Amino acid sequence: MTLVESVSLLLGLIYASSLLYFGGKRWGAALISLMALAAVIVASIWPLLVGTAIAAAVFALVHRRSPQLTQGEGRADEVRDAVSHFFALSLLIVGLQYVVYHALLLNGLGGHLTRPDVVDAFIPIAGGLELKAIVTLNLWDKHHPAAAVMLFTVMVSAIVCKRAFCGWACPLGLLGTQLYRLRKRFIPGDALPPAWLDWPLRMVKYLLFFVLLYLVVFGMPSQALPGYFGGNYHMISDAKMGAFFLSPSLLAGIIIVLVLAMAMWQQQSFCRYLCPYGAGLGLLSFLSPFKIRRSDEHCLKSKGFACDKCTRACPARIEVDNLITVRSDECQACMRCISACPKKEALTLSTRTGISLSAKGVAVILMLMMFAIPLIAAACGYWHSEVTDEMRAYLLPYLHQIGH
Ligand code: SF4
Ligand code: SF4
Repeated sequence: MTLVESVSLLLGLIYASSLLYFGGKRWGAALISLMALAAVIVASIWPLLVGTAIAAAVFALVHRRSPQLTQGEGRADEVRDAVSHFFALSLLIVGLQYVVYHALLLNGLGGHLTRPDVVDAFIPIAGGLELKAIVTLNLWDKHHPAAAVMLFTVMVSAIVCKRAFCGWACPLGLLGTQLYRLRKRFIPGDALPPAWLDWPLRMVKYLLFFVLLYLVVFGMPSQALPGYFGGNYHMISDAKMGAFFLSPSLLAGIIIVLVLAMAMWQQQSFCRYLCPYGAGLGLLSFLSPFKIRRSDEHCLKSKGFACDKCTRACPARIEVDNLITVRSDECQACMRCISACPKKEALTLSTRTGISLSAKGVAVILMLMMFAIPLIAAACGYWHSEVTDEMRAYLLPYLHQIGH
């Protein structure tokens, strides 16, 4: 685990602990702190030890300058924005380190920087194959273990708190929202597709998801997995994914430009129409006990007032004001509807039995899962790739020739 990854993980866990502490859940805060400390001690690697000190210092600094941020005060939108910007910033720094690492490697200067393993989150097919190998063969891949860890983590997050990963953590979602806002500043208005076209377009992401699922489940028999994991293609699969974005072919370039244009044209259009990851999480989110629930007793509309603020705030275009329970696979638990509602008790993210989650609660659960599971995996020795710098340096010049 690199220093940058360590600082991000520990900062996230300290933030989660702080939200609990200032929310009055001191036992929860103590438990997270102890768990993080235990994992750091068990792992006993210098980036985690130094990262803990840096994360604590950074957090203390931010707390002094902006205590309302570290205490999670403010409306749900502010808490969500703080969390999503934190995730995006962490990933941006990690991405930069990954690019510099490869640049050094290609110029014969390997060994000066470590590859951040968390980038393996961007090779979910490899992660899916690794999970399959664990389940069917008890085989734990050593070349990209973080891919399996991150895929597992995101899947668990959807089962617990719906598509909160999409609404709170995904940097592509945040980028899309910013591009959409930018476009609206210069070209106001929306050009939404009609309902008859919207539904088939939404199904495109499920089509992509089921193609990928088919490849993982049926595309390669379990017996072939050990050979695949030992092959050059798997060893260098993260660099292949990186090359798609950083030095795209003409076709890849056209796809990227189209996706960015879509994001500008309609809010969350990539999440809604194309993202296979979002499709998988949408299906898993049906298992989550937490749903947006509207109370007829408190809702202004139920009392005869003309109110649809929740529906107008929803980026997933769900008609919240007409539903008692939002069961949609498009709901990202973003809580914009709750923030927009003038009646405090009218909307909740809650279970059928009445256990409700505040924005702080979602932030804590999400950060706990996204940061604690990788930390525990690292402490158990299942995080760092065993593909050496020498092997990477040898394979990188043949990147475009290597196939599977
Ligand atoms: S229903 Fe509410 S929580 Fe779900 S996507 Fe819409 S605004 Fe977000
Ligand atoms: S914004 Fe609140 S009060 Fe208005 S319709 Fe939605 S739930 Fe009811």
